[in-house]
Amino acid sequence: MKPLRIIAYSTVILLLFIGLLFGHYYHRYNENRADNIERAITESQSQLNYIEREYYLLNERLVSSSRLLAENQSMYDYVLEPNQDNRRILEQVWASVAAGQKWYRSIRAISLTGQEVLKVNYDRENDRASPSTDYRNVEGSEFFDYLQSLQNDQFGTWQIEFEEEASGVVSSPVRPVMKIMTPVSALGARVGYLVLDFDVTYLTNLVVFSPDPTLTADLISHSGYYIAGQKEHMLFGEVFPSRSHFNFATMNPVIWQKMQESQRGYYFDEGTLYVFTFIGVLPERALYAMIEMPPSELESRAQQGFSDLLQEALFVLMLLLVILFPITFVLMYYYRRDMDGKLARAALNGMSAVLISDKHNRGILVNQEFQLLTGYSDVDIKDKKILDTLLGQDSNTITQAVLNEININKSWEGELLIYTRDGGTVSVITRIQPDYSPLGELDYYIISFVDISERKKLEERLRALSELDDLTGLWNRRKFEHELTRSASIAERYSDKQPSCLALIDIDHFKRVNDEKGHDEGDRTIRVVGQILTDSLRATDFVSRIGGEEFALLMPHTSLDEAQQVLERILVAVSSHQDIDVTISAGFTDMTGDRDRSYKWADIALYQSKANGRNRVSRCLSREEYL
Ligand code: GH3
Ligand code: MG
Ligand code: MG
Repeated sequence: MKPLRIIAYSTVILLLFIGLLFGHYYHRYNENRADNIERAITESQSQLNYIEREYYLLNERLVSSSRLLAENQSMYDYVLEPNQDNRRILEQVWASVAAGQKWYRSIRAISLTGQEVLKVNYDRENDRASPSTDYRNVEGSEFFDYLQSLQNDQFGTWQIEFEEEASGVVSSPVRPVMKIMTPVSALGARVGYLVLDFDVTYLTNLVVFSPDPTLTADLISHSGYYIAGQKEHMLFGEVFPSRSHFNFATMNPVIWQKMQESQRGYYFDEGTLYVFTFIGVLPERALYAMIEMPPSELESRAQQGFSDLLQEALFVLMLLLVILFPITFVLMYYYRRDMDGKLARAALNGMSAVLISDKHNRGILVNQEFQLLTGYSDVDIKDKKILDTLLGQDSNTITQAVLNEININKSWEGELLIYTRDGGTVSVITRIQPDYSPLGELDYYIISFVDISERKKLEERLRALSELDDLTGLWNRRKFEHELTRSASIAERYSDKQPSCLALIDIDHFKRVNDEKGHDEGDRTIRVVGQILTDSLRATDFVSRIGGEEFALLMPHTSLDEAQQVLERILVAVSSHQDIDVTISAGFTDMTGDRDRSYKWADIALYQSKANGRNRVSRCLSREEYL
């Protein structure tokens, strides 16, 4: 697989998993939301049930304590004998009841004519109950009419109203109370009334108590007004004219309608959850307990679950990445290795000869081309220092130079002459490429060889051609210059050894040949003289044509006398040759380290031959001075 494809697959898998994850957690998120709402409803309902039960218990206790107050002994004693002692005892009993129960504002006795005759007030703030003589007469009031209408053992309640002073002034601070009352009888006859002012604010204690602060309820009267709860500024709209608009029935008519239809339930309105329960303990004072949960509250409840969910999702995502990244990495790694392998195989079976050796230069593997080139097979090179064998005696120097270069340039390329198995040599361009492990350690060398023998031969031929004379096939002047220099340096280095001689030869009166027989004949004559020179000299002698009809000879390891003999023999060979009708003149000298001087001396000798009548040999010795 290609890296792009690996990355593409990994990305697709990642996206797929992210999609699945997203889907899964979106589903769970919605479930969680629904669960949360359901939980909010259930929790609210159980809180309302608790409130209902508490309200019921409170009611029970109110009735039983009222009954106790109306029917107890000290009440009888006072009714039958209303002296100061009995009054004081009764007041004390009432005071202790009020202080004990804490929910009465006052306990009063009213005569059959509507006159208050006994009264105990309770101050909840200071937890103090005390008798009061601030008596009122309620005769003629609606409340007294209602009181008179009660049966002897009947308990009545009166609507919530403000507590009033005897003067009829609303007591300050304003305090809403609800009257609970019953007639008092003695010896079978009604003797008066007992009236208890229940402190309605006490109810707030009842509904706001909850371990979960978001589950505090409101109590709403059957006419829609708030009578208990945390919304203090909205409470008692029926007695506070300024709060009369805080009526749930008029504010939320749709929900109110629903509340009329069922005793308990819940309703969503603009994202707010309303959970309600009807409490009908006192039929004529029926009310609703209601928990209102605004969207923000529902949201924050969902938030908790959501952040848990988010954390979990992120964890799963991280896990996914942690798994997927190494897999991608490994795939990429193997891809690269696979490519390396392919490359190596391609190189091994490709155009060039390849040798793979370990970091100690021991052979591991070669390809067929290598075997064809060098004659060494896999078996021959296995664990052997094959490069040393190939390079022969220069191996150490070359290897060291190559290693130095590799350290700097990470590869080496150059021309080498390697020895083949059959003892021959091949010129090769060699490239040595080290291969490193992923950890950066040198693993092995890949060494490729390109055979350049053919090219070398061609170069050789070209060079030779550039040094040969076209007309005679002898060496030309350039080659002569080169050889003269070489000969001079040899003469200098080995001055004590046998000398070499330099001779210059010129055809006599050559102009005439051209003039009389034509240029072509002249050329032919030059060629024949060249051939005679070659034939007369040793293979180690050097013969060149250095000008029109001038030749130069270099005769290594040749004494002056030997040179003289050779030249004279040549002179004879030319003059007696059947095909040509010319003679030559020669001048020679012994080679010294000074090439120009030697040339000059030979030239002077040639000049002497010409001057002395041609067709002769002259010499100029290096130890003599001619200029
Ligand atoms: P000398 O004995 O003094 O050497 O007399 P010479 O006539 O040989 O005089 P010189 O060496 O001055 O003349 C050489 C002549 O060779 C001049 C030129 O026309 C002729 N020549 C030079 N190169 C060639 C060539 O390649 N082919 C032919 N046919 N003639 C050449
Ligand atoms: Mg000449
Ligand atoms: Mg001449």
